[in-house]
Amino acid sequence: MGMIAVYPGSFDPITSGHFDIIERAGAMFDTLVVLVAINSTKESTFSCDERVEMIRHAVHAHGLTNIQVDSISDGLLVDYAEQRKAKAIIKGLRAVSDFEYEFQMALINRRLRPEIETVFLMTSAEYSFLSSSIVKEIARLDGDISGLVPQVNLRKIQAHYES
Ligand code: ADP
Repeated sequence: MGMIAVYPGSFDPITSGHFDIIERAGAMFDTLVVLVAINSTKESTFSCDERVEMIRHAVHAHGLTNIQVDSISDGLLVDYAEQRKAKAIIKGLRAVSDFEYEFQMALINRRLRPEIETVFLMTSAEYSFLSSSIVKEIARLDGDISGLVPQVNLRKIQAHYES
């Protein structure tokens, strides 16, 4: 099994920025588990299954064999990580504005499970402006989202906004 890391997020839907982090973290660890975290207090655009499927399609299309995709709806991230025997939690950072929240989460997670390290990867410059919500806004307004999301998921996302 080797070194395992967990990369959590809402992935509603997965963007090219997320995928860039998946590729880079996947190269650092033997196994990377991309974890779709369902936040019951937050309304989502795509269902949990759709989000998992889109990540799986992207991973498959790029021939990444050490990436697993799972979802969690209840329970603490650090408990999930512990259960999977993961050594690290992966987070992406886009801007200073991401920092404060992620810093707080990393510290509380360390308090809960000191043996699990949070590892931050800086966004690639070309994706620093990218978020799931900006992708959805463009798609909703019928703009071109190619390049912003994995190519294999393009139709699925566009179809969601066709009426
Ligand atoms: P979003 O903010 O796009 O809704 P998520 O909650 O799904 O994203 O984010 C999951 C993780 O991916 C977080 O650690 C977030 O910082 C990171 N992330 C999101 N977009 C990017 C990007 N463009 N580049 C690098 N990391 C990103």
